[in-house]
Parts: sequence; structure tokens; C-alpha cells
Amino acid sequence: MAAALSDLLAALDATADRPILHFADAPPRTGADLLRASARTARALSRIGPPGSRLAVAAHPTFATIAALVGAFRAGWIAVPLGLRYRGRELAHIFTDADPAAVAGAPHPAAGELAEHGVIPPPAVVPDGREADAAVADPGDADTPCLIVYTSGTTGRSKGAVHGQRSLFGAMASLADAWGFGPDDALAHALPLHHVHGLCIGIFAALLRGVTVRLAPRFSAEGVVAAFEDGATVFCGVPTQYAKILAHLDERPAGAAALARGRLFASGSAALPARAFEAFEARTGHRILERYGMTETMITLSNPLEGERRPGTVGRPLPGFEIRIDEGAEPGLEGAGELKVRGIGLFDGYFGAPEATAACFDEDGFFRTGDLVRRDADGAIRIVGRRSADIVKTGGFKVAAPEIEEVLREHPLVADAAVFGVPDDLFGEAIAAAVIPARPGLSAEDLEPALREHCVRRLADYKKPRRLLVVGALPRNAMGKVQKHVLRDRLAGG
Ligand code: AMP
Repeated sequence: MAAALSDLLAALDATADRPILHFADAPPRTGADLLRASARTARALSRIGPPGSRLAVAAHPTFATIAALVGAFRAGWIAVPLGLRYRGRELAHIFTDADPAAVAGAPHPAAGELAEHGVIPPPAVVPDGREADAAVADPGDADTPCLIVYTSGTTGRSKGAVHGQRSLFGAMASLADAWGFGPDDALAHALPLHHVHGLCIGIFAALLRGVTVRLAPRFSAEGVVAAFEDGATVFCGVPTQYAKILAHLDERPAGAAALARGRLFASGSAALPARAFEAFEARTGHRILERYGMTETMITLSNPLEGERRPGTVGRPLPGFEIRIDEGAEPGLEGAGELKVRGIGLFDGYFGAPEATAACFDEDGFFRTGDLVRRDADGAIRIVGRRSADIVKTGGFKVAAPEIEEVLREHPLVADAAVFGVPDDLFGEAIAAAVIPARPGLSAEDLEPALREHCVRRLADYKKPRRLLVVGALPRNAMGKVQKHVLRDRLAGG
């Protein structure tokens, strides 16, 4: 299943005359438009630096962003999409780590904060007339690295997962075919473009198979319903978005008829509650197709397009992937174990971090996901937990607790802090923080406004703690590790 950038370019050529990219407030663009714009970017990049250089692109849902990303691929550069909700501190980390040689597209909303963190961004690439006739640089082959997606791990700052053309286009072709993506489909797109879900499925899997993509400036339930009223056939969303769509349908039941006309509704990035699956089916007649993936592995497991889609399961390996379940990994969990993955979508490693990369693979080359799973009798996989209490999945975003703890500890009123996830109806998990105040007698009411203001300036909004617990000490085990489950129980007990 060798796959490469040439597959995308061939698909764009095949849709040269079709408006395949639609935007809220800009004219639609054809395959030919994307080929032309990306070639210009590629030629300009080749004048700036050699293949392997990094191009940072703020993930605005615009044509310029997509053209810049494809332009980077065509120059043999590595594209680094930047989440729009990052603040200066998070952005500065990515600039320092990925060391981009250029930026492209509209500026990042927090670009002005970079200087405070000692980062001077590289120049913006602006294709000019000289690009018109020059040859496009050699775009490499399946082995060429082309994309870095930043993801939170169990340690502090985010790490850049490097994907090559094979893992990006190979895994996306496998997924697109499993889900029957084709030129008759129109995808209602309302996910961020700096993450595998929105970028790799939402743009590249779609474009590979000639799907029309209708990008919304931001998610709203009304917008998704309107897209289906206007002929959209596919929606890929996170469970939080489905919860909002269901709440919207409670208010405006008529919208369900438009959704009912769709072909496919897929969910992933976090567990879809069974009651959301059932409520969506009752409203629209569609059984949401749930799948599982990771930044490091692309989309790995999926319920079937044809056949039974069972709530609570994420299906079986997609073509090109194999899995193992390591039952020794987590003692005390009868019949469950850590999911390990090998195959087409596996990343090349974390950028500049060979030791962190090596630590994630077992001796047979399987990637350790950290997710605990169980296999149903028919082979479908259920996610039952995760190995680390330091990862929180909130609204589909993966967040590292230590990163938030570090920010909280920087506040003068905080002596120490522990961050963890608590169950939440809308977000799946909400971020909670247990804080030891620096001065005795300070209450949650005293701390809350100060910490909110402190976090808003330093962290993407979805990382801010939504629950605060003031404690005199953090419960620790014999090894000195904070027992986050004890804190979670304490918060649940009021
Ligand atoms: P990310 O790298 O941000 O895509 O996060 C990957 C993680 O999201 C996985 O390791 C899982 O913990 C979680 N995840 C993704 N899809 C699902 C799903 N369908 N059900 C439960 N958890 C999921």
C-alpha cells in the first residue's frame, strides 16, 4: 500500500475543474487552483531552504493554509500546522522545537506574543512573479517526511509527531476507502486544521478521493445542519460536537430531516457515549460510525461502513494496520491490556527526540498507545481506560496534565498543584486542578479569579481548569507519585 504525495497531486488533477474546496466567505477553489497555488509556494520555498526545512502555518480554515501545506509537501519541506487557540507560550515552544525556516499564510493570532518568549519568527514566504515558470522542486517519495503534528504526552511540553508521505497518504487512503469516500460526497468540515482529525481526514483523505470539502470558520450545530440542508453528505466530528448537535435538535427538531439525508456520520478523538449514539439514531436514523486513532498512528481502528456499528466499540484494524493487546501492561485489569499498533500510519518519530521515540515502541516495532482496551467476542475493540492519569481528553483535545501543573505552580498564590480529568457530559472529561495555596486560609473563591486570569494568558482556552479543589496536601503513594484517582474521588464526593 505504498502511497505518496503523487497520489494527492493526481487526485487534484482529476478534480482540476471541480470546485472541491468551499469556504464561508471566499470563492470556492478547484483542484487546478490548489495545484497552481501550491506549486508557487513550493517554488518560493525551494529558494529559501533545502528539503527537510520546516514551514510553520497557522491553521486558519482558509485556502491559503491548505495551499501552504501542500506547497510545503511539494518542496520536500515539512509542514507544521499551528493550532489557532495556542497562546504565546505554547507557540514559542513549537517555534523553538521545530525551528521553522519560514512561515506562510495569515499570521497566528498569538504571533505578537512570541517576542515575550524570546522567539523571533522566521520570514513569511510570499510567492511572487518569479514563481510562474520555474520548475517545482522534487517532491520526494513515500519515505520523505512531510508533516509534524504537535501532540501532548505524559510529560510537560508538546512533542512533534513526524509523518512521512507514506503514513499520511497511505493511512488516509485506507480510511477513505473503508468509509467509501468518493466524488459524490461533500464533507461538512468544522474541526481544527492542526490535528489529525480535521487536517488528515478532513482535508487529505477527502481530497485523495475527490470529496468536496466545505470548511466552516468554526463549529456550530446550526452550521452543520445548514451544510446538510445544502447537500453535505458526510460529517466527521468529536463527541462534544455531537452533544451540541443533539442539544440543537432538541430546540429545533426540524434540522434532523436534513441530517437524515446524509450518508455518513463519523466520530472519534474521544469516546462517544452510548446514549449520544442512540439519541442520534433516534433523531436521524444514522448509526454514528465510531473510529479510533492517535496523532502518532493516524486512524487505526474503525467500525464498519457495512455491518454492525456497535456503540462503545471502536471496531477493528483498518487495512494496513495490525494490533496487539499487551495484557501484562496493566496488572489487575482482567482481560484488558494496552493497545499496541503497527502498520501504515505509524509516525517516523518525535521531532528531535530519538529517546522519547524509542521508548514508545516495543521490540517488534509496535507503538504503545497507552490506551487500555478489551476485545469483544467478535473482535471489536473497546477502549476501557488509559495507562496514564496525566493525559486528559477534553472536547477531543489531548492535554498533558504536567503542562498545566507547571503553569499553575508559576502563580505566586500556588505552592503546588495536580491536574486531572473528571467525567463531564459535554467535554467527555473536564480539567480539574487540586491546588495547595501558598498561604494558609485561601479558599477556592479566593484563588479562582486569579488562576483563571493567569491560565487564560498562558494556555489554549481548552486547557484551563474548570474545577478547582483546594487541598492542604497532595495524596501520594509510597513512590511519591500523586494519587490522582484519590483527588478525583474527593472532587466527586463534593
Ligand atoms: P490524539 O493524538 O490527540 O488524536 O489523541 C489520541 C487519543 O485519543 C487516543 O490515544 C485515545 O486515548 C483517544 N481516542 C481517540 N479516538 C477515541 C475513541 N473513539 N474512543 C476513545 N478514545 C479515543
